[in-house]
Amino acid sequence: MGLDHRVFRRGGLRFLAGLTAAGALLALPPTTVTSADVKAAPAPALAQAASRPPLAGKVIGIDPGHNGLNYTSPAFLNRKVWNGREWEGCDTTGTQTAGGYTEARFNWNVAVYLRADLIRMGARVMMTRTGNHGLGPCVDTRSRILNRAHANVSIDIHADYGPLSGRGFTVLEPVADGPNNKVIGSSRRFGRDVHAMMLRDTPFRISNYYGRNGYITRTDLAGLNLTTMPKVLIETGNMRNAADAALLVSPKVQRAVAAALATAIARFLAGH
Ligand SMILES: [Zn+2]
Repeated sequence: MGLDHRVFRRGGLRFLAGLTAAGALLALPPTTVTSADVKAAPAPALAQAASRPPLAGKVIGIDPGHNGLNYTSPAFLNRKVWNGREWEGCDTTGTQTAGGYTEARFNWNVAVYLRADLIRMGARVMMTRTGNHGLGPCVDTRSRILNRAHANVSIDIHADYGPLSGRGFTVLEPVADGPNNKVIGSSRRFGRDVHAMMLRDTPFRISNYYGRNGYITRTDLAGLNLTTMPKVLIETGNMRNAADAALLVSPKVQRAVAAALATAIARFLAGH
């Protein structure tokens, strides 16, 4: 997202049927504890505490920005939605690298790796879209999907379209506007965890062109204006910069970004 709102039209309108149904809530089945296990355990309460996964009982929201077929329908993207402060477009196509690797694909891949990490950590995960071959949903709907899931914390995943020489990540944070009033402080705390883990566990550095010290507040995004749970948006890197782009398209780096976000989520929910 960010500076680029160009519409990449590649296939006409043939793929309009790809509208996704969003909101699949995924969870691992609870661990089965047999009576034999209980009897064998010398200290059942301690044993249970030790084996309890770190995110058990938590619901995490993931919003992978844009969607793979958004470029097929400018009319859909131009539909106006209320973002809590003003009317804005339903969504954009997102950006892409010079080599044609789309931001929608990057966002989706990181989201899938992150979902797997979070489920391994015991969480249930709500996603705002179910694949990368659909259209939408609009940004206000994405926010509502996560709000209705009563997620404990959520992350919006993006990559930016900045100046050619620009590199690095920025954490976008909400500003109080009514619906999000109760989650401004908690979103700031979560943002610090995301910032710290991006620096520690990924090759991306603090943005040299956007925000200040890797942070910026935004008042014009439905995802931040309408949220009722702690949430930030990460602009992971600059798809327009060759060095950042080489990182962004790498599955290994995508997994590292997902792992950093999972660690940040766990740290935030543990109250560090
Ligand atoms: Zn984006």
